[in-house]
Formats: sequence, C-alpha cells, structure tokens
Amino acid sequence: MNIIPIEGTLESVIQTIPERLKDVFPNVIDEVEYRPEIEMPSKAYNPSRDQYRAQIILHHIAKKFGSKEGKILVITSEDLYSQRLNFIFGQAQKPGKIAIISLHRLKPEFWGKKKDRDLFLARAVKECVHELGHTFGLDHCEDQKCVMSFSNRIEHTDRKKARFCEKCEENMKSFLRVRE
Ligand SMILES: [Zn+2]
Ligand SMILES: [Zn+2]
Repeated sequence: MNIIPIEGTLESVIQTIPERLKDVFPNVIDEVEYRPEIEMPSKAYNPSRDQYRAQIILHHIAKKFGSKEGKILVITSEDLYSQRLNFIFGQAQKPGKIAIISLHRLKPEFWGKKKDRDLFLARAVKECVHELGHTFGLDHCEDQKCVMSFSNRIEHTDRKKARFCEKCEENMKSFLRVRE
C-alpha cells in the first residue's frame, strides 16, 4: 500500500495510521510505502465553498500514480466535499485502488470539543478502513457498528468500530478470492 500525504498533513498521523490498518487487513495490506507529500491540485479547490472536491483529487492521483503497485491511500488535512454532499470524510474508487480521507473534521476541536489525540486517531483509522473497504468493492452496510456504515456526522463515525461486521468480512473474503 502506498501512503500519499497532501502537503500540510500531520506527519505523526501519517506514521501512526498504517500499523493500525494492518491489524484490520492482515495479509491484504502489505508493505507500506511512504510517498513524498504532494501539492494539493489547485483545480480541486472551490473558492465559494472553501473546500476541495474529492473526485478531482482522485482523478489527479490516478493520472499521476495509477501505475503504482497496490492500494493508494491519500491523506489530507483539508476539507473535502462531493457533488451531492456538504462535506465528506473520504471517498474512494469502488472497486479500485485509490482512496482519500480528510482529517479536517475528525479533530474534536473542529466540533468545539477539547483536543483528544486518541479519539482523533481512532476516527482517522475508521475512515481509512472504510474507504479502503470500498476499494476492495464493499458497499455501505446497514449495521451501525460496522466500519462500512455510512457516516456524514461525526457521531456516526464514533459509534462504529474500526472493524467489518461478519457480513462485510465475508464479502471481503469473497472479493479477495475473485482477485486471486
Ligand atoms: Zn462510504
Ligand atoms: Zn458490515
């Protein structure tokens, strides 16, 4: 798996997340390659929203790094949106190889709460697992505790676990068998 930070992303976060991802995706997430940070593509910026459109960033990464082996996880501190949603915690090709997550709204202080590094990291890991799950082909899950349940509120991120439910776990296994 390749990790590509967009400039301005906390180094300590980038170093911490991959180890936790390996716990959830044993034998799937192989060696982690840290790519140098890249500039945010300026065409992704929407000045009227002061946000970046995730789809444009995914296209940009696909063009630039699409030939790399393995999954590509892009991490940014900027705020992301998609065509239909005010903001998103992340987006991914489904199925595909590229996923992006935004740390922006995962920080408790964004919501007026006090800083909490453990909570922040736990949220980041959940969103990474979720978006990577999409790259393997998983859809959203109805089980609110399952990492594949959709979140567009931070409370939804907090109530889910960093794990797949049994059904999603089974689906993951069958996607991996198809791939072999
Ligand atoms: Zn999703
Ligand atoms: Zn599930």
